[in-house]
Amino acid sequence: MSRLMIIGCGGVASVAIHKCCQNSDVFTEIMIASRTVSKCDALKEKLQGTTKTKITTAKVDADNVDELVALMESYKPDAVLNVALPYQDLTIMDACLKAGVNYIDTANYEPEDTDDPTWRAIYEKRCKEEGFTAYFDYSWQWAYQEKFKEAGLMALLGTGFDPGVTSVFSAYALKHYFDEIHTIDILDCNGGDHGYPFATNFNPEINLREVSANGSYWENGHWVETKPMEIKREYNFPQVGEKDMYLLHHEEIESLAKNIPGVKRIRFFMTFGQSYLTHMKCLENVGMLSTSPINFNGQEIVPIQFLKALLPDPASLGPRTVGKTNIGCIFTGVKDGKEKTIYIYNVCDHQECYKEVGSQAISYTTGVPAMIGSMMVVDGTWKGAGVFNVEEFDPDPYMEALNKWGLPWVVDENPQIVE
Ligand code: NDP
Repeated sequence: MSRLMIIGCGGVASVAIHKCCQNSDVFTEIMIASRTVSKCDALKEKLQGTTKTKITTAKVDADNVDELVALMESYKPDAVLNVALPYQDLTIMDACLKAGVNYIDTANYEPEDTDDPTWRAIYEKRCKEEGFTAYFDYSWQWAYQEKFKEAGLMALLGTGFDPGVTSVFSAYALKHYFDEIHTIDILDCNGGDHGYPFATNFNPEINLREVSANGSYWENGHWVETKPMEIKREYNFPQVGEKDMYLLHHEEIESLAKNIPGVKRIRFFMTFGQSYLTHMKCLENVGMLSTSPINFNGQEIVPIQFLKALLPDPASLGPRTVGKTNIGCIFTGVKDGKEKTIYIYNVCDHQECYKEVGSQAISYTTGVPAMIGSMMVVDGTWKGAGVFNVEEFDPDPYMEALNKWGLPWVVDENPQIVE
């Protein structure tokens, strides 16, 4: 019995909402609140005859704390699931504190305007101190630790697939397979094909910023930064096949370095085809990935937002995407004095996801864990006051829920390793 407010109604939200509606015993009531209320109403219309979950909708500007607080105070949810954009993380956390509501998200804070001088000064200090230049990091949200603790509220950060499931895989490996984990390689493979020359699988602005940035990995207590796409490896992914993958900076490296004791190296790789990389480089070279506003015919436009308007909506890729994703982690370490290696991964089929919830596998692999993380919070399986990353809790109930709710996983005790 619970009441969940879901903020955002895009690709990931749609899957999370479908999954909450399949899980009506836990999610008896949900509110879908987003900027474009017609999208929320359309989804409600589609789902309400198929579920016992009572669905309401609302329009909200998640950049506006007062508006959020008023909506939370009127709906009185047990928790808020933020599946809007990382830009809204802090305003939604502020509103949760004011309204006395638990908070859940899938991506760490990133500013919309990276030219903002106040943010920029803090960012540049962090680049020097920490040694990585990504625009996103956990410092902003971890800074809410005392506020959530004092309020007796819980904030659960990063319950998507990566971060999220990969972080829970790490906690599970540590609990059941290792005395100490020494290395973690997170491998994110999308073997899907949507047939467009160029499209991104989730929000283009967030996605293109992430993959065009410098890479970095954690080694022996510090960050090592690389040029974008500098480190390339090939890997033969179970059920997908041989793919090129590239080292990227990714947010769970930061939290796993803090929460997995004794870990010596953490890397993140994502697969990209040559055509995707060539398109992206070209768009970058002509300035289309810029987040700085320019004046065009008397109107201010942000190039990457204009590009987003031109590209296919990720939510529309579902019917045409075929193939599978394979996302997981390879762990090395020691157990009972012996060295060992295991690979925990999930394989997800784009068309199967589409048949079930009308979305492709990238939204599915994020939306399902968003529902599961919300369930852990609202049914009290995971409890605590403060700000937490998912790997800080008992992984077993989450791992069971992954099998039950559509993301079954495999443990391979003799995997191919990454050089
Ligand atoms: P979409 O762009 O498809 O959806 C974002 C939604 O948020 C849209 O409905 C949008 O409204 C709404 N929104 C944006 N700004 C506001 C605002 N100011 N007020 C209210 N609503 C707003 O994104 P995705 O579904 O692809 O991604 C959602 C989140 O999931 C992102 O934070 C992304 O980083 C994260 N993610 C996490 C992954 C993981 O594995 N951890 C993987 C993939 C994504 P409108 O409809 O009006 O545009």
